[in-house]
Amino acid sequence: MATIGFIGLGNMGGPMAINLVNAGHTVQVFDLSTDAVSKVVNEGGIATATAVEAVAEADVVISMLPAGKHVLALYVEGDSPLFDHVKDDVLIIDSSTIEASTATQVAAQAQSRGIGFIDAPVSGGVGGAKAGTLAFMVGASEEQFAKAKPFLACMGKNIFHAGSHGAGQIAKACNNMLLSVLMAGTCEALNMGVKNGLDPAVLSEIMKQSSGNNWALQVYNPYPGVMEGVPSSNGYQGGFQVDLMFKDLGLAMELSQSSASPTPMGSQARALFNMHKVNGHGGLDFSSVLKLYQG
Ligand code: NAD
Repeated sequence: MATIGFIGLGNMGGPMAINLVNAGHTVQVFDLSTDAVSKVVNEGGIATATAVEAVAEADVVISMLPAGKHVLALYVEGDSPLFDHVKDDVLIIDSSTIEASTATQVAAQAQSRGIGFIDAPVSGGVGGAKAGTLAFMVGASEEQFAKAKPFLACMGKNIFHAGSHGAGQIAKACNNMLLSVLMAGTCEALNMGVKNGLDPAVLSEIMKQSSGNNWALQVYNPYPGVMEGVPSSNGYQGGFQVDLMFKDLGLAMELSQSSASPTPMGSQARALFNMHKVNGHGGLDFSSVLKLYQG
């Protein structure tokens, strides 16, 4: 069993850290929010006063932070960058969704100092994080991937080696662009059906058994009251924030720009989530984009 330093215990990182504890690892945790730390400590995590303290003796470090600027500040640019404090043979696994370019840049800086740093963003939502069924998309060398896999297997079910450093983030940006299109389209169809007199639960079941079937209908229905245990039936609390989806669509647009890949659907979805965000809904789960259609 290993000593793991885990930084970032939010909606995703908290349950991921708990699954590592449940697998028998010693998990030293840090988050800026004491509430977030308490939830993991109640399940057997060990609180530390600083991020440096969490990682100093760790064999593996895992981070689950909101965006690239947080990852850069934590490891490279802050007052006490963790690259100055980790053990020589450490493997750092960053599971935050960030720019592929930032992941590649941080990995190169790590490599120049003899530190292993890989990107391993996830898909599967808070439900997948709790159940330990996340999909990991890993950008790493073969050797680093093999070293990381047993730890990722404590938190996920499908672990993919997407390619070298940054490749995990490229896969994640492609996936989330598609997810945003599917969620917006699902909201569009459900709203039109309801406005024309259909029961959202009946319409959802019809589309789920028909050619419109998709992940949102299967496990994340955006219409309140249709599905239990999802954010739409809990006032759109928890889950995956609109602010984070908007960030991810920005990452997709950067890739589209740098590779001249046409993304008309992704651009449209970004515009929709942007409008929803400026309407004051940035902190709600992304399935709340239904509200934009309901007016
Ligand atoms: P969150 O906002 O719930 O959690 C982020 C946590 O990081 C917070 O607890 C915050 O206090 C902490 N934090 C920020 N800066 C820190 C620092 N310097 N040191 C220590 N802690 C710090 O976000 P989340 O929903 O858990 O998402 C985390 C990442 O996972 C994001 O990149 C997101 O895009 C990605 N993601 C989220 C989901 C989802 O369904 N929520 C799914 C897949 C991927």
